[in-house]
Amino acid sequence: MPTQKHRLFIPYRHVTAVTVLVFILILHGVYTPKAVSLSQPKNTVINLDIPLSIANTNQTNSVSVVSYQEKTPKIKSLPQKNEDKIVIRQGDTLSTLFDQYDLGQTTLRNILSADESLLALETLRPGQILYFRYQKHTPNLKEMELYKHAGHRIIYERLEDNAFNYRTIIREGEWHNKRINGKIENTFYLSAQRAGLTEHEAATVTQIFQEQLNFSRAIHKGDQFQIIRGVQIIDNKPTGQTRIESVRIQRRAYEHTAFLFSDGRYYDKEGKSLARAFTRTPLSKSYRVSSSFNPRRVHPVTGRVAPHNGTDFATPTGTKVRSTGDGIVTRVGNHPFAGRYVDIQHGGQYKTRYLHLHRVLVRRGESISRGQTIALSGNSGRSTGPHLHFELHIHSRPVDPMKAKIPLTRSVPQKHKIIFAQRVAQQTNLLDKAQDTTEIAANGNE
Ligand SMILES: [Zn+2]
Repeated sequence: MPTQKHRLFIPYRHVTAVTVLVFILILHGVYTPKAVSLSQPKNTVINLDIPLSIANTNQTNSVSVVSYQEKTPKIKSLPQKNEDKIVIRQGDTLSTLFDQYDLGQTTLRNILSADESLLALETLRPGQILYFRYQKHTPNLKEMELYKHAGHRIIYERLEDNAFNYRTIIREGEWHNKRINGKIENTFYLSAQRAGLTEHEAATVTQIFQEQLNFSRAIHKGDQFQIIRGVQIIDNKPTGQTRIESVRIQRRAYEHTAFLFSDGRYYDKEGKSLARAFTRTPLSKSYRVSSSFNPRRVHPVTGRVAPHNGTDFATPTGTKVRSTGDGIVTRVGNHPFAGRYVDIQHGGQYKTRYLHLHRVLVRRGESISRGQTIALSGNSGRSTGPHLHFELHIHSRPVDPMKAKIPLTRSVPQKHKIIFAQRVAQQTNLLDKAQDTTEIAANGNE
């Protein structure tokens, strides 16, 4: 091989001739392009077993076609389209879909790493849509979109170094009111479903009154109820999302009411909260905050800037974790990066989340009261040491649990009393109308 110095003296036409010759040889497969691979050492071999820590995988170029073909020896034709659309069916998992579309488990792992702070990919539901979008003229994933519904989309985007980040697109749309009217035949749960509520909505109503009303004892045959269900509409179409706007339960001598207010909580008509106030932290004593809520934190393991959607407390493994409010366990899972986790939905628009747990002590669907021990803290998943990661979400968005305005009192704040009274009047009017439409609602056709 000529040294750099010598090459300077070779006439240009010779260089051109040699170059052309090498190209011809490459085209005929005679000359194995070792030099090519040397010039792109990072791209030719993709390590399929990327360790949990992806701190050392800061590849500077995007994945090349060469590397792709090497890890999947079968010949795959380039995608004809720029995008594949997959409607999730029962039993589909991301892993099987990535195999089916030949996207590589490394890419999946990088996406799951980004999803650590969101956990949106943990529970794919039938009917949700996945879009795989490809880099131009390659089979490599450029971005993946999870379309939960028109009001909630998440896009995972490939970065220069093959890691992914995400952005969430939330649209509020409009909420239309639907009236539901029913009479207790046997249990509230069954009667509510006969009147047109879904199982989930019936459970939500039970949870809203958890503190006031024991449905199995206090509700009897002949009692009545009216419910206003909000139906989300975006671009003139229902998104499939509903929420309980108000409830009125009429027992023989008592009446119970619940009105959803703009702060995401349910109050009775006097403005008294139906759920107990929240506690600020899920721990019985105070622990050092080892990492604060930060939308642009440098991840301690990956070294990447990624949102830290919660507060970390330096709790030793085995510390009791307590729910910060009354609620229902909506998810229990084990994520490769987030570790063992629990999600609790609190009546209305509040959700709390607890990650890196050692042991979970509750089950999905279970009713939880404030202060109840739900888990023991730990060090599971991708974690630099024992701690508790705690999140608070309001209206589907994570907020700083230490600073967010959470309801720490039981009543509608004085300054919102007038707006609240207007809301009660408007909803009561609808509940009255619901009561007048017995025949329609009894058939569930409302
Ligand atoms: Zn954390």
